[in-house]
Amino acid sequence: MSIKKGSFIISIDLELAWGVWDKLNSQSIQKIIEYERKICSNLIKIFDENEIPVTWAVVAALLDSKNKMITDQNQKAWYAPDILEKILNSKMKHLIASHSYNHKEFDKCSKEQIDQDFEKSIHFFKLININPDVFVFPRNQVFHLDILKKYKFKTYRSVDKSWYKKVYMFNKQLGKISNLIDKIIPIKTNSVKPSVDKFGLIEMPTSILLLSKNGVRSLATNYSMFKKIKDGIDLAINRNECFHIWFHPSNFYFKTEKQFDLLKKTIEYVNFKRQQGLIDIKLLNEFN
Ligand SMILES: [Zn+2]
Repeated sequence: MSIKKGSFIISIDLELAWGVWDKLNSQSIQKIIEYERKICSNLIKIFDENEIPVTWAVVAALLDSKNKMITDQNQKAWYAPDILEKILNSKMKHLIASHSYNHKEFDKCSKEQIDQDFEKSIHFFKLININPDVFVFPRNQVFHLDILKKYKFKTYRSVDKSWYKKVYMFNKQLGKISNLIDKIIPIKTNSVKPSVDKFGLIEMPTSILLLSKNGVRSLATNYSMFKKIKDGIDLAINRNECFHIWFHPSNFYFKTEKQFDLLKKTIEYVNFKRQQGLIDIKLLNEFN
């Protein structure tokens, strides 16, 4: 499959507490309640101002008012139809992709569990008149592709095509360290391209994650990150491929302003190239 012009994608995993359902404490719940909505509003505003359409991969349980995690104190961490409404009412026409019903890792689930997950997510997306055909796997565990096909999905996001991913397959901890080294030293970046798998599904890898800026991760400076992103955008243009950035709103919880600076700089650069007619900004369903 070929793309005629270079392209640029942003995909965002909207999951709130569901993304970390198995590692939560009261502090992290508080952080989600305090920050997630402000960050989403700011993202939506930046995308509107700069005319950037993005793909939001949404955990469907966020639309389920009776989901089993909700209590009186924490509702805002597990239920967020208000954020969806903001996205759908924004000036830019964004794409809603499915990020499963409740963010269970697919490699740890039976076919029956996966079937139930799809039934439920489709039901809750239908409540807001959405029928997603793009899927983003929880924790990027790409499994059960046959079931994806059965539920009529067309496209899925896969993993970063970077050297550190190979280390990650070998050892998770070493992989995490290598990911950080990869972001601290502005070495090679990757443009990506879609391919068709054996089920006829379109697989779209990612280029780079906007790492959180807490702890050792803050060693990945904006200088280094922006250099990687800029080189990656240039590479996508030269090769007629795609540069695909992904993140969660929670990647903006620490050093929020700095992270927004990096995003704005990225958008400014990509818009400069777009104005020259060199690159298109696309949604994840535009490679069918
Ligand atoms: Zn996720």
